[in-house]
Amino acid sequence: MKPDAGYIEVAVAIPVFQTFTYSAPESLAAFVAIGKRVLIPFGRRRITGYVLGPSRGFDHKEVKAVLDVLDEQPLFPSAMVPFFRWISDYYKYPLGEVVKNALPGGLNIRDYVQVSLTTDGQAVLAREQLNPVSQQILSHLQSGPCRVQELYKKIDQTIPGALFYSLEQQGLISRKWELSQAGTKARLERYVRLSDVRPVAGKLSPSRAKIMDVLTASGEISVRQLKEIIPTAAALIKPLEKAGYLTIHYKRLYRDPFGELIKPDRALALNPEQAEAVGGICGYFGKGYKTFLLRGVTGSGKTEVYLQVADEVLKSGRRVLVLVPEIALITQMERRFRARFGDCVGVLHSALSAGERYDQWSRILDGEATVVIGARSAIFAPFENIGIIIVDEEHDSSYKQEGKLRYNARDLAVVRAQQNDCLALLGSATPSIQSYYNTVTEKFSELILTKRVEQRSLPEISIVDLRETRDTRGIGRYISPQLLQAMQETLERGEQVLLFLNRRGYASFPVCSACGQPMRCKHCDITLTLHRRSNAYRCHYCGFSRSAVSKCDVCGSSKIKQLGLGTEKLEDLVAKLFPDARLARMDRDTTTRKGSVLKLLKGLRDKTTDILLGTQMVAKGHDFPNITVVGIICADLSLSFPDFRAGERTFQLLAQVAGRAGRGDRPGRVILQTYNPDHFSIDAARRQDFLSFYNQEIGFRKALNYPPFSRVVQLKISGTDPRTTKKHAHILGDLCHSLKANQSARYRSIDIMGPIEASLARIARRYRWQILLKGSNIRRLHQFINQLMSDHPAGFSRHQVQVAIDVDPFFMM
Ligand code: ADP
Ligand code: ZN
Ligand code: ZN
Repeated sequence: MKPDAGYIEVAVAIPVFQTFTYSAPESLAAFVAIGKRVLIPFGRRRITGYVLGPSRGFDHKEVKAVLDVLDEQPLFPSAMVPFFRWISDYYKYPLGEVVKNALPGGLNIRDYVQVSLTTDGQAVLAREQLNPVSQQILSHLQSGPCRVQELYKKIDQTIPGALFYSLEQQGLISRKWELSQAGTKARLERYVRLSDVRPVAGKLSPSRAKIMDVLTASGEISVRQLKEIIPTAAALIKPLEKAGYLTIHYKRLYRDPFGELIKPDRALALNPEQAEAVGGICGYFGKGYKTFLLRGVTGSGKTEVYLQVADEVLKSGRRVLVLVPEIALITQMERRFRARFGDCVGVLHSALSAGERYDQWSRILDGEATVVIGARSAIFAPFENIGIIIVDEEHDSSYKQEGKLRYNARDLAVVRAQQNDCLALLGSATPSIQSYYNTVTEKFSELILTKRVEQRSLPEISIVDLRETRDTRGIGRYISPQLLQAMQETLERGEQVLLFLNRRGYASFPVCSACGQPMRCKHCDITLTLHRRSNAYRCHYCGFSRSAVSKCDVCGSSKIKQLGLGTEKLEDLVAKLFPDARLARMDRDTTTRKGSVLKLLKGLRDKTTDILLGTQMVAKGHDFPNITVVGIICADLSLSFPDFRAGERTFQLLAQVAGRAGRGDRPGRVILQTYNPDHFSIDAARRQDFLSFYNQEIGFRKALNYPPFSRVVQLKISGTDPRTTKKHAHILGDLCHSLKANQSARYRSIDIMGPIEASLARIARRYRWQILLKGSNIRRLHQFINQLMSDHPAGFSRHQVQVAIDVDPFFMM
């Protein structure tokens, strides 16, 4: 942006949709740039805004001036501005809040600036009369460099950033960007390298001569390795360096999340299917936008395809963005990318501390990190020159953010690729119906990996019909004889077992045995779950908890039947069955502490765990070659949700968890226990037949006009008072209906369903209502909502009753 543009467009992080024009006073004009934050007067307040570009037209008389420029460097490149605008418009979220959501939280760059006095500054301070604030700053710095934060505290909170710029430009102070602790904690390893000077033969002691021999053979070696050959080497290299025979230097080491060194690797020889996929993608590279859907069965080597495509992209000087659904999988992906690409890999996810995130963010902005791997929010990585955006496990629902800005990172990957004229690559063994449909309609191009690598076979899946064991008492009711036998055989062979049950806690359905009343949450319309380990009933929606010795609310009886099997109880049962087996449980309760997921995965990898049981956390993407049996305890739990995607989710979950079996040299088996063996989602998962699942499901979507044949927007209405909430839901519903009636030609294609009470009618003391808007034309649907919002802003205001707009909703309950 040219500084003389004078007037700038600023977005502010408040609930308004428009942007504002400000002028940049002369003293600041040179510092204003797209992507920086500015301090602006806003009504009676001073708030932070984001510079988006030159003003796009405004009313001169009202324009106020920017008070300060808050950032030294832009926080995002100008190429991202259209992306932010698109998101704000599509997801109906205020632009400034979109930008705020995109930037790493807790980002306060001022904290990281170290200021010191220069010699010129010393001299000027002694000689000249400066303005009082500058005087104070320089005087303070006389006692040594300090953080800029300290100057704010000691002198004045409102020192304008521009003053620092100007003092620096005059050469009176210098500023240094200090990276926070975490960034500097890099582990370094000492290496020695041969220099040009050769010692005279026979002049060195035997061990020194031996060091030189080793070095002559290898050219460069780490001191650690050298010590393995010559134990006294550490003491001898210094003198050798002094004599000029070798040089000592340090290299940054990368360790995998398990603490082990990552050894550099090289591209694998691709099998024909992989080669075709890589070729197909690379053939398109540089020719503009295109999205590929890589459908490869579990264990077919999709990651190797990503790596080799990424390599091509990097060679052309463009950037690579890789999205992965979960932190545990990020570390696995990071490991493989680091082994291949080393230093240029950056990561972005919520488990990083604020300082670490800031470091990563600046490494991306500086062009140091050219590959970024991250979770959902990494879609906002501040890249300018993207070559490809890869979305692994593209079907995963964790790409959808619930709450605040309700976006889907998978969909945004496609949008960003479009805007950047680059490629998007979505990969999955169980693609979403939406994405696969896009290949059918040729919006996306399909690439297929039908086989596992190295001729490994897909696991054999056998079904156990739970209806037959319904009346069985005891353990046999949960763990069928078939599963039991498979587990026994596996453990005897020294291999590992994975058990999947998608429900945590001990008992998910505690019921009074006297009157039949379930134990309910005080704040939600939901039954509580008994958690034995923490001795409490817990609500999984709001966190409410009550003592495990609670009595029935209705009749006061203390006899509560603990129905509904959860992972805790499964753990107890399995421990009884296999007292000698080493057992671990992975669910949200055992993974609250940082690093706990890794610890569990390490147990699997190091074979200190024989049986891992857990919720859907165990289903996702992990690659553990020694797991040869997977037991699915009850396949039906996700089928009964009142949601049009219930079948899709069930299929994905089952096929994914089954895919964890037999990834090594030995073939795998899956025992799938179900009450609905004939349900097409379960049957298709058994046959691992994505296409037959798709064909059934797409027919059902078409018949009911659900996505992908229509688009859906859900208005989520919630409030603490049942009557006002209901009333507001009805007011909003009436507004929808009358808008449609008044402009029936325009909005004929839009269906309005509701208002209805949500299936979870109360969560965390909030009463919940919904209106579903469905239309085959997304543009019309957006027009409809825009008009609704602009005609009736009160319908959406955030007072007593909250209305959230969820475009392409996932969580429908
Ligand atoms: P997916 O993501 O498709 O489930 P992965 O990418 O995890 O599968 O690959 C499974 C395993 O196969 C990995 O250990 C990987 O190193 C290995 N692999 C991938 N491609 C090849 C290949 N061409 N030759 C040999 N091994 C391969
Ligand atoms: Zn009772
Ligand atoms: Zn609750």
